[in-house]
Amino acid sequence: MMSKSPVWHPFTQHAVQPEAIPIARGEGAWLEAADGRRIFDAISSWWVITHGHRHPPIVQAIKAQADKLDQVIFAGFTHEPAEQLARRLVAITPPELEYVFFSDSGSTSVEVALKMALGFWRHRGEHRARILALQGAYHGDTIGGMSVGERGVFNAPYDPLLFAVDRIPFPERGREQVTFDALDAACTAGGVAALIVEPLILGAGGMLIYPPAVLAEMKRICERHDVLFIADEVMTGWGRTGTRFACEQAGIAPDIACYSKGLTGGSLPLAVTLCRGDIFDAHYSPDRTRTFFHSSSYTANPIACAAALANLEVWDNEPVMQRIDALAALQTRKLDRFRTDGRFENVRQLGTIAALDVVAGDAGYMANIGPSLHEAFRARNLLVRPLGNTIYLMPPYCSTEADLDLVYDAIDGIVAGLA
Ligand SMILES: *Cc1c(COP(=O)(O)O)cnc(C)c1O
Repeated sequence: MMSKSPVWHPFTQHAVQPEAIPIARGEGAWLEAADGRRIFDAISSWWVITHGHRHPPIVQAIKAQADKLDQVIFAGFTHEPAEQLARRLVAITPPELEYVFFSDSGSTSVEVALKMALGFWRHRGEHRARILALQGAYHGDTIGGMSVGERGVFNAPYDPLLFAVDRIPFPERGREQVTFDALDAACTAGGVAALIVEPLILGAGGMLIYPPAVLAEMKRICERHDVLFIADEVMTGWGRTGTRFACEQAGIAPDIACYSKGLTGGSLPLAVTLCRGDIFDAHYSPDRTRTFFHSSSYTANPIACAAALANLEVWDNEPVMQRIDALAALQTRKLDRFRTDGRFENVRQLGTIAALDVVAGDAGYMANIGPSLHEAFRARNLLVRPLGNTIYLMPPYCSTEADLDLVYDAIDGIVAGLA
């Protein structure tokens, strides 16, 4: 018998959740447990794996970079992988986005975005310090990320540390005007630095989808009021929603954009915050107090940057968009059987992401049904982690029809077993 593990796991209630499964290997869309069990990774290991685990060109790039330069301070020094990556990112994103700031996680990329927005207005001499955010949003678990995210059970104990934001109602279908009016009113009230949104889909908030035209209209309203528009593409980026970035579907260029998760194909932690030229310029001054005072020890780690560069090459050299289209089409077909099934509601899809709600006595993230669903999938060697009564699939792009059949059959069987 091994002694009790000292590890404290994320988003895990150790008092009621079963022991963590030791994973020894990963390949493609599958994980292999230490005891040899194979587990289908239907949520891409928390939304990060895009092409598959250990995608060969990315693994190679990591090995090659580890042999050259592991880490170097990024203030006063730079390196080829970061320089190249920044150039490539600027080339594939809207022309308005001219500068790239590196960090280590989605949460920190959001912190950087918020700090850029407040710094911009302060250095321009305008008093704008309020942030607008969508109801139900999730932007990470650091203090700033929690502040702009939905308040609730996740962050209640930390509430005294969180700053106030103006909350804009989620654009419910048929009630989009309510969102537009609220956004316009909040902007008109003045003092607003920025609006932060998850474009097209609220992820952790329950896979809630809204159309590109609504995203475009929110951007137009912000423009009218000179309010900076921050797109948190941490989850939506890198093909998840059917296009490389979700904002492409709305034909908009954000003023600030955050990318992480799939940036390295899911291999290593890395994040970037891209911004408009004038946001950089507002900090550019002989006055050193205008420096952008943000850093983390591992800013632009060379190995992580090499992995991200390799990911961009995969996008150039492999039929990534075709794989995404094929996976999206599969999801559409597989969801079909549940569209008229009374046990489910809100059957929905955006690109490679499929979601449906189990009709249950209670809904929302703390729905009692959540943990039982999770365990039932786990017993079938499927990594599916429902958000309360919302079951969603966000598999790697290399997943096959047979892989998906395993999950869709399990959904059917497990929910039948709950009745
Ligand atoms: C996951 C996520 C984050 C936080 O990213 P981490 O890498 O977990 O810190 C922020 N915003 C969105 C939309 C996310 O999905």
